[in-house]
Amino acid sequence: MNMVNVGRPTRPEGEAPQDPGARRSLSGGRGLLQDEPLLFELEGWDKTGVDFEPAEHDASDLAGLTREGQIGIPGLSEPEAVRHYVRLSQKNHAIDLALYPLGSCTMKHNPRLNEKMARLAGFADLHPLQPLSTTQGALKLMDRLAHWLKTLTGMPAVALAPKAGAHGELCGLLCIKAAHEAAGNGDRRRVLVPTSAHGTNPATAAFVGYSVTEIAQTEDGRVDLADLAAKLGPDVAAIMVTNPNTCGLFERDVIEIARLTHAAGAYFYCDGANFNAIVGRVRPGDLGVDAMHINLHKTFSTPHGGGGPGAGPVVLSAALATFAPAPWVVSGPDGLTLVEEAKDEAAQAFGRMSAFQGQMGMFVRAYAYMLSHGADGLRQVAEDAVLNANYVKARLGDLMTAAFPDGPCMHEALFDDRWLEGTGVTTLDFAKAMIDEGFHPMTMYFPLVVHGAMLIEPTETESKRELDRFCEALRLLAAAALAGDADRFKGAPHLAPLRRLDETLAARKPKLTWRPESLSSSGEAA
Ligand SMILES: *Cc1c(COP(=O)(O)O)cnc(C)c1O
Repeated sequence: MNMVNVGRPTRPEGEAPQDPGARRSLSGGRGLLQDEPLLFELEGWDKTGVDFEPAEHDASDLAGLTREGQIGIPGLSEPEAVRHYVRLSQKNHAIDLALYPLGSCTMKHNPRLNEKMARLAGFADLHPLQPLSTTQGALKLMDRLAHWLKTLTGMPAVALAPKAGAHGELCGLLCIKAAHEAAGNGDRRRVLVPTSAHGTNPATAAFVGYSVTEIAQTEDGRVDLADLAAKLGPDVAAIMVTNPNTCGLFERDVIEIARLTHAAGAYFYCDGANFNAIVGRVRPGDLGVDAMHINLHKTFSTPHGGGGPGAGPVVLSAALATFAPAPWVVSGPDGLTLVEEAKDEAAQAFGRMSAFQGQMGMFVRAYAYMLSHGADGLRQVAEDAVLNANYVKARLGDLMTAAFPDGPCMHEALFDDRWLEGTGVTTLDFAKAMIDEGFHPMTMYFPLVVHGAMLIEPTETESKRELDRFCEALRLLAAAALAGDADRFKGAPHLAPLRRLDETLAARKPKLTWRPESLSSSGEAA
C-alpha cells in the first residue's frame, strides 16, 4: 500500500517496455537502486532494534489504560532504518545532485559554511526561554542580520519573526491593517493583486479578511498602469506587487505604481521572494515600497523545499514601522534585550507572529551567507543570476518560444508552449521527458497568465558548463518534439523509479494513515 493513491510498480502491469534502455529489472530495482517499500511494509513487527533488560519495576500508574496490542511501529535494526531513509533520499532530486531550475523558488547552492555556523552549539542548542544574559551572542546576530536587511532594502525597520514568505505576507498585511485602523481607515477592505501574482498573495489578503481585485497585465508582462489607476479607490487598503515579477521581468513603472498607490491612500506591499535578482543593485525602499518580505531561504540560501525550514522577515517603511510585531532586539543598560510587551515604543505593535523570535537556524545561515559574500559579493549574486537566466533564454530562444522575447529578462527565463503547437507534446510531456535526461523540470504552468508556461530560474549557482549541459539536453528534447517524436514524450519519464502519478488524486485524496490488515482488525493501528 502506498501513502498516495498511485500504483507503485515502476511500469503499469502488462505494458511493454518502450525502449530497451527502459527494460524493467526482475526485482523492481534499477541501477544500484532497490525498490523501496514503506517503512510499515517492512518485516519485523515483533522485533526491536534495541536490547533492553526487562524492567525491574513494571507496575504502571495508568490503571486500566495500558496499551495491550502492538504499538504499530515496525521494529528495525539501525542499518535497516538507515538504509530505508537513504534509499528514499536517493529517489529524490537535490540541489547537491544537479541544477534545480524551478522558477520562483531560487534553488541555489547552500554553502557548507552556513551549515557549520548554524550547528555551533551556542546557536543550535539555544532555548528560547534562556535568560537573556546567556544569549547575548544570538541577540547580536539577530541585530546584525536586521541591520543588513534594512541596509540592503533601504528600509528603516524589519520584523524577523515570520517563518516563511507567506507568513511574511501575513505579517506585512497585518501591519497595513493596523496602520489603517489607527488612522480611522479600517473600512478599506480591498487589496489589488496583479494577474501574474504568486498564489500566496491573494490567499494572504483573503486570510486577513480583504477582498481581492485583480490588476490586468500589459502585453509585455508588466502591471497595467491604467487598470491599476482605475481600480485604486478609497476602499483599497493595499496593492501586492512582486518585483521582479513572476514573469521574470522588472516592473518598469514601479515608481509610478508606488506614487499612484500612495496618492490613493493605500500601501505598497512588495512580494520580495524574487529579491535574489536585485539584491545589492536596487533598494526597494527607494522605490516607494512600504512592506516587503524577504525569503531568507531563497535569496540568502538555505536548503528549502518540502515545507521548510524557512524564514520570511518583513522590512517596513517609516509609515508602518511602529506597527511591527514583537519581539525585536534593542540595546539596554545590561546589553541586548528583547522588546516583548505592547507598551512604550511597542504600544502600537499589532501583536506577534510566533511564540518566540523566529527561525534562529535560518538567521545564522543567512548572516553567514551575507558575511561570506560581503556587499560586493551580494551584488554579484544578482548580476550573475540575471546573466545566467539571460544566457538560458538566448540559448533556447531559437527552438522554444520566449513568452516575452523583447529585451532581457531578470533572474528567470519564461517560455510558453506556442512552439509545441501541432507536435502533440504538451508542457507536461516536455517536463516529464527532462527527467529521463537527468534534469529536474522547471516550474510548469506558472505564472498562469502565460499559456503552458515553463519558468526556468538557474540562479547564480550554475557555471557556464552546467548551463550548457542543461541547455544541450533541452535543445535535444526540443528538436525531438519538433521532429514529431511525440512517443518519447507521451510515456515519459521512462527511466524514473516512479512514472506519471495521478497528482490530482494524490493531492485531493491523500492516504495519510497506514493500516496494516493484521492490526486494523484488532483496532490498534493509528
Ligand atoms: C516562494 C514565493 C512565495 C512564498 O514563499 P514561502 O516561503 O514558500 O511561503 C511568495 N511569492 C513568491 C513570488 C515566491 O516565489
